[in-house]
Amino acid sequence: MKTIEQIASELQGYDPGALRADAVDDFLSRLVEPVRETEPVSLCAALGRVLAADLISPINVPPHDNSAMDGYAFAGASLQPDADLALRVVGTVHAGATWTGWVAEDECVRIMTGAVMPAGLDTVVPVEFTRLSGEEVTIPAGVVRLGDNRRLLGEDLMTGRAALRAGSRLGPAALGLIASLGLGSVTVRRRPKVAFFSTGDEILSLGESARAGAIYDSNRYTLFGLLSRLGVELLDLGAVRDDPVALRAAFERAAREADAVITSGGVSVGEADHTKAVMRELGDIAFWRIAMRPGRPMAVGRLRHETRDALLFGLPGNPVAVMVTFLAFVRPALLRLMGATETQPLRVPAFSLETMRKKPGRTEFQRGIASRSPDGNLRVRSTGSQGSGVLRSMAEANCLIVLRHEQDEVAPGDTVDLLLFDGLI
Ligand code: AMP
Ligand code: MG
Repeated sequence: MKTIEQIASELQGYDPGALRADAVDDFLSRLVEPVRETEPVSLCAALGRVLAADLISPINVPPHDNSAMDGYAFAGASLQPDADLALRVVGTVHAGATWTGWVAEDECVRIMTGAVMPAGLDTVVPVEFTRLSGEEVTIPAGVVRLGDNRRLLGEDLMTGRAALRAGSRLGPAALGLIASLGLGSVTVRRRPKVAFFSTGDEILSLGESARAGAIYDSNRYTLFGLLSRLGVELLDLGAVRDDPVALRAAFERAAREADAVITSGGVSVGEADHTKAVMRELGDIAFWRIAMRPGRPMAVGRLRHETRDALLFGLPGNPVAVMVTFLAFVRPALLRLMGATETQPLRVPAFSLETMRKKPGRTEFQRGIASRSPDGNLRVRSTGSQGSGVLRSMAEANCLIVLRHEQDEVAPGDTVDLLLFDGLI
């Protein structure tokens, strides 16, 4: 396990007081080690979990050659390029049944989608292409080629091959795929437990009555949503007063019970509060000023604990900054902690519909609404006021717009990068 100092020494030009946003991921990937423990879970409980080892297919899927259409199965070698083919229908095979009879060269079998291909037959003509007269079916010239409309044994999954790779997050498609192998359970990594709390004397919890100078805690709810979606185990430690004793108790409990701890507030440079002092006292922490907007200050590191240190992400207090720093930095780090191999959101270019003010020398994250333009390209506009306290800008967004470090003001038609955070298929 590397210390903050060791990681810092590995990175070229690392400056905690002026850190580039695009350097954060490199730092965090050196800090975060995946949880090691694994556990078997039943198939439905595996949704969103991370596969612990390659899943080797115990069977072929499909287990036999079968028809992809309702039609007639026959030997494709009988097809002539320019002539219709007339065949005698000798029977029917339904899905779930097998055909045991012999089929001669001038014969065929009516076959349903998914039914096993009779021995010796390799081609299916869809019923709608044919003419039936009594027991004879005519296949017009040119409607099918040899091998058409036949699904091959093992076409989807082959015995002994990896059906899914270790580190995959299991989505709905993966559940179906695992079920198609006849498996009712699967081994996944333990879910990390993530503790989170808000800090600050001005923070009211829901249910408390409003008072002058105080605001309701929103960060704990955005974090609850973000963490729930990620599929970690949650430990909500509430809103903690800016008091060394209360803060120490919260950090100590979090370090004892969780794999990672996320706080909001109290990490800005000018803070007169105790959050940073307690973090420093209990952990190995870097205090960053990131060249970004929103969300400049951030603390990262580890809180010491006898048996197992906990990762710490001390996020800024502003509600939008919390979400942006979570999505841009903490989410990939937590996915890595979960053991996932794919940790980054989808990043795609889009053209801007409007002027976007931007200072070079920092990365700016705007909240965007991406859509498809009539000519089929991806386009984006920002969601009204981009103030870092305006959570409404985030609530209306379907993506983050990344204005890169070197980038200057954006004119309509210019290309910007989007981060898309959609779920798993
Ligand atoms: P700080 O980083 O502590 O200086 O906080 C920056 C701003 O975010 C201040 O206006 C805080 O009042 C506000 N803030 C801090 N924590 C929260 C929270 N949990 N919910 C809503 N706003 C917060
Ligand atoms: Mg504060």
